[in-house]
Amino acid sequence: MSDQEIYQKFMEYMNNPVWEFTESEHLMPMLTSFLSPEEAEFLTGFPQGSRTLEQIADIKNLAPDELLPIIKAHCRKGTIYEGKRGDSVRYRLWSAVEMFTRAVFWPSEVQEEAKAMAPHVSKYYMDGWYEQKRAFTHPELRTIPISETVESGTGFMPFEDILQVVENYEYYTVSECPCRARHNEDPAFKDSPFPMEVCLHFNELGHYIVDNNLGREITKEETLEILKKSADAGLVHGINNWEENPDTICNCDLEYCTYFKPYHQLGFEKSHDPSNYLVSTMPELCKACGLCVRRCPMDALQLKFSTEATNKFRKVVVVQEENCIGCGVCVHKCKAKAIILKQRETTTWPPKTVKDMVNLNAMAVLTAKGLMENKN
Ligand code: SF4
Ligand code: SF4
Ligand code: SF4
Repeated sequence: MSDQEIYQKFMEYMNNPVWEFTESEHLMPMLTSFLSPEEAEFLTGFPQGSRTLEQIADIKNLAPDELLPIIKAHCRKGTIYEGKRGDSVRYRLWSAVEMFTRAVFWPSEVQEEAKAMAPHVSKYYMDGWYEQKRAFTHPELRTIPISETVESGTGFMPFEDILQVVENYEYYTVSECPCRARHNEDPAFKDSPFPMEVCLHFNELGHYIVDNNLGREITKEETLEILKKSADAGLVHGINNWEENPDTICNCDLEYCTYFKPYHQLGFEKSHDPSNYLVSTMPELCKACGLCVRRCPMDALQLKFSTEATNKFRKVVVVQEENCIGCGVCVHKCKAKAIILKQRETTTWPPKTVKDMVNLNAMAVLTAKGLMENKN
């Protein structure tokens, strides 16, 4: 088989009705700079759902002890996921997007192939590949407010109290932000000014990361410090958009984030799903310093002339409510305490499980493509 045929078969194997490799001049450079033909051939046919080593040995027609080092090399590369539960170890392919954009950029020392791939991924992403997510009803991240930016005395939904969420984990890790790392390796972009080591992963995913040198173990206290550092820097906390067992808390920046970028640059309707909180202003306290306006990642705040203003500029901050995702980034640094997060009138819940979120998005894409009937 020629190299071209090997890559073609790999792409066909990864494609599905919801998500596929789209045509672009950047596609082949992305693939070939990251995966050798031997690696692409090995990954073709590798289970996309979790399987044991013995099951995969049968599929690949290899002895388990011959197979294991190959799988482990792919785990370290970020192309195969290793899930450990008690004595059971199972492996599966990362999805196509995760394979090319996520795990590979987690380590503090990015591998040479990933560095070579980075400029191609960012261009490919924006050249139609990400477009397939436009129909998603549920972005993979949901905003979780910065602690202490919510009005005191307000009750939290269990999935929205970041301190409680962190408390509930058993194992804590941190990796580099792969969105920023990818852009930093791309000469077309300037280096991100935001902190890098802020991608938090927990429990089973955390063990995969540490066992495969894709990040490092930290304590609960260090996790809270990273959240504080991120909030100070103006990053938005985003947690997996499902209720049961979320394993990731991202700290996202306006410019390079996988979710903010399509919102601002491709005109997607959503970035992160909003939290159940909304900014509320106290015009009489506002000093019109403009800091919150500059910090808001959603362009939801503006300074406007107002008769309620008590400052010399005669201006107060006003909120465009439909843009606010309830992150608290603006509230966190307002010295005048003129803004606060308050509970929205209507409460929304994330999907119960990751499977529910994936299914809802898959149905939305299939409906948009005319492959499924819209039941609404
Ligand atoms: S989604 Fe946000 S924190 Fe996560 S990797 Fe991207 S920018 Fe970084
Ligand atoms: S709300 Fe606070 S941060 Fe925003 S302009 Fe007014 S004083 Fe400044
Ligand atoms: S106004 Fe902007 S910064 Fe403030 S909570 Fe809403 S989205 Fe976040």
